[in-house]
Amino acid sequence: MKRRIISPYENAPANQFKGNLHTHTTDSDGPLSPQDTVDAYDRRGYDFLMISDHDTVTDIASLDARNMTLLSGNEITSNGMHLLHVNAGGKIDPSPERQQVINAVNQSGGFVIVNHPNWGEDFVHCSQEAIEKLTGFVGMEIYNGVSLRVEGGALATERWDMLLSKGRRVWGFGNDDPHIPEDYGVAWNMVFAEGRRTSQLIEAMRSGCFYVSTGVRIDAIEAEGRRLRIRSADTECFRVYRDHGRMLTSEEGRELNYELPDCDPLTYVRVECHGFGARMAWTQPFFVE
Ligand SMILES: [Zn+2]
Ligand SMILES: [Zn+2]
Repeated sequence: MKRRIISPYENAPANQFKGNLHTHTTDSDGPLSPQDTVDAYDRRGYDFLMISDHDTVTDIASLDARNMTLLSGNEITSNGMHLLHVNAGGKIDPSPERQQVINAVNQSGGFVIVNHPNWGEDFVHCSQEAIEKLTGFVGMEIYNGVSLRVEGGALATERWDMLLSKGRRVWGFGNDDPHIPEDYGVAWNMVFAEGRRTSQLIEAMRSGCFYVSTGVRIDAIEAEGRRLRIRSADTECFRVYRDHGRMLTSEEGRELNYELPDCDPLTYVRVECHGFGARMAWTQPFFVE
């Protein structure tokens, strides 16, 4: 069978930019003022930050970005499942019809990420059915930092696998969603881009040219034909998953050099890089044609 990997990292620039897209400040229920929040992330060495208060678009032009790129955003909260509005030109009406919200965001030049699917005492902020009904969103939080210490689950890779297995092309994002300062720096996105201008970061994230990290850095990702190579000095074990969350292989080492087998279904693979302690990285899915 002739199979070929379609990599979102094809021709990826070597530069990696670290950023958090889901950030609360005193403009809603976060711990610090917008400027103090920017300063806190800047001190942690972040390259970009999006302040995303609940139903509030913070005016980033009034802030000193320090050494970062600030993206405009908000968390569409009222009336339904929480949606991250990335690259916001202004506030979008938080209609209970979330498809209308997504359409309006897309028309305005932004994009949508479905937030923390597994937040809540029943581990269901939004049902899988509700997510599957929606179209036009770019990504889903596969890791939501605050959900580590509050009720529910931080990780949502099983929701992601279910969507991907249905042929949906959705990127995984990792964000802090901080409500106290201890929530800073839990999970972030590493974006491959030539530079960190807003347009470069947005374009890279739209096309899946980034990975999620809780402390593992991926040094290089290459795909050729049906072979996948990943180098990561921080990684102790690579795990490759395919449709419906089936694990294809688990290999210890700092380099993965893996040829896709002949098996069905095999519409995508994704790689988890397990490092020291709880540190991990998640690649985006590589679709298989
Ligand atoms: Zn939320
Ligand atoms: Zn939030």
